[in-house]
Amino acid sequence: MLKHNLLDWDRTLVWHAFTQMAEYEPFVIERAEGCVLVDIDGNEYIDGVSSLWCNIHGHRHPRIDAAVREQLEQVAHVTNLGASNPTTIRLAKRLVDIAPPGLNHLFFSDDGATAVEVAVKMAFQYWRQCPDPRPEKTCYVALGEAYHGDTIGSVSVGGVERFHAMFRPLLFETLRVPAPDSYRRPPNVAPDELCRHHLAELEKVLAEHHRRIAALVIEPLVQGAAGMIMHPPGYLHGVRELTRKYDTLLIADEVAVGFGRTGKMFACEHEEVVPDLLCLAKGLTGGYLPMAATLATDEIWNAFLGDYSEGKTFYHGHTYGGNPLGAAAALATLDVFEQERTLEKMPAKIARLEEHLARIARLPHVGDVRQRGLIAAVELVQDAATKEPFPWAEKRGQRVCDFARTQGVWLRPLGNVIVIMPPLAITLEQLDKIMEAVEKGIPAATA
Ligand SMILES: *Cc1c(COP(=O)(O)O)cnc(C)c1O
Repeated sequence: MLKHNLLDWDRTLVWHAFTQMAEYEPFVIERAEGCVLVDIDGNEYIDGVSSLWCNIHGHRHPRIDAAVREQLEQVAHVTNLGASNPTTIRLAKRLVDIAPPGLNHLFFSDDGATAVEVAVKMAFQYWRQCPDPRPEKTCYVALGEAYHGDTIGSVSVGGVERFHAMFRPLLFETLRVPAPDSYRRPPNVAPDELCRHHLAELEKVLAEHHRRIAALVIEPLVQGAAGMIMHPPGYLHGVRELTRKYDTLLIADEVAVGFGRTGKMFACEHEEVVPDLLCLAKGLTGGYLPMAATLATDEIWNAFLGDYSEGKTFYHGHTYGGNPLGAAAALATLDVFEQERTLEKMPAKIARLEEHLARIARLPHVGDVRQRGLIAAVELVQDAATKEPFPWAEKRGQRVCDFARTQGVWLRPLGNVIVIMPPLAITLEQLDKIMEAVEKGIPAATA
C-alpha cells in the first residue's frame, strides 16, 4: 500500500467526525504503546487527550490485550436481545458493585450517545408505567452548553450552539438552565455565591414546570465538550436535592468524567450523589472498544416489569450492545485499576498538573486555567481583563495544538480552550512534556 494512496483516500473517502474535510490534513496513527502514539512516518507523540478522552491505562496494555485475545478464543459476538454470555454478565455484576449504591441494573449499548439516548427514553417510559403514572411528564431539563452525544435524542438535551442549533427543528422540548460556569459568572454574582445563584435559577424552572418534566440531564462536575466548564462545589448535590423535591429523575452523564478522570472512580462520588440513571461509556473499555452502559435503580427497573401483554417492555436495543470483546476489555480495565492502584497514584499527577497550570496561568492571553483531577483546560482570550474571546474562526486553540505536535505532543482543543486530558497512566515526565509544549505553544499562537 503506497503511503500517498492512504493519505489521498483519507482526505477524500473518509468523512472525519467534527472535521472540515475541505481543509483536513491527514494525521494517521499506525500504532501506539502506553501513552505514545506513532504515525505512519514513525513520528512519536504523547497522547495528551487519551484518544479523545477514552484511554485510561495506556494503549496496548498487556493485560487488556490478553483479555480481548482470550475472549476471541471463546466467541466474538453474542446478541443482547434475549441472550447473554458469561463475560458480559460478569461485567454487569462488577459495574453494579462499584457504581454509586442503588444502581442495581444496567442496559448495555455501544457509545456515549446511545447511553444517554437509552436513559432519556427510559425516563420517558418510566413515568408512563410507574405505580402512579404521570404521562404528562414528557420534557427534559438540561444545562446551557451541555453535550450528551450526537444522536437526535442526545442532541435534544445538548446545548452547544455551534453543534446543535442547525438541528433544532428535529429536536424534542428541553428546558435549559444556565451552566454554573466558575470562569464566566453572571454579572454581580461573586464566586462564593455562584452555586446558590444557579440552584435558585434551577429551582425556579422546576417549581414552574415540574409537572411536565421527566428528567434533568447533567454532566457531573465538568461539562466536557462545552470547553471543560467546571461547576462550583455543591452544585451537583444541590441538583440531586432539587430533583428529588420536584419529582424529577436525575440522569448523570458520566461518559467523560467516569472511570477515574476526576480522581474518584465516578464524579458523583465527590458529592455523594446517587442519580436515578447513570450513563457510562468512553473509559469503560479503557478506550479499546465501543461499549456503553446505562445504570438504573430498582424503582425504574420495577416499572418495566409485567406480563408480556402489558407492553411494559423496553423496546430498544443495539446489535452490538453488551459485546463480549468489549466486556472483556472492560473487565480487564477494572482489574488494572486494582492491580496498578491507578486511583492511588493520581494525586501526585494531579498535583504536578496543577503546578504547570499555575505557571501557564501567568502567560499573556491566558484567561483561565482550570482543573478537576486529570482534566485540565487553558482558555485563551483576546483580553484577560474583560475575558473578551478570540474570534473562534482564528482557531487559536488549534494553533497551540499544531505547535505541540511539532514538539511530539498530540492535543485536540475545544475552540479557544486547550484541553489536557491524558490517560491516567501518564508518567510525570510525560506530563511535563505535554505542559511544556502547551506553555511554548501559547505565545507562538497568540502573538
Ligand atoms: C463524548 C460524550 C458523549 C458521547 O459519547 P460518544 O461515545 O461519542 O457517543 C456523551 N456525553 C458526554 C459527556 C461526552 O463527553
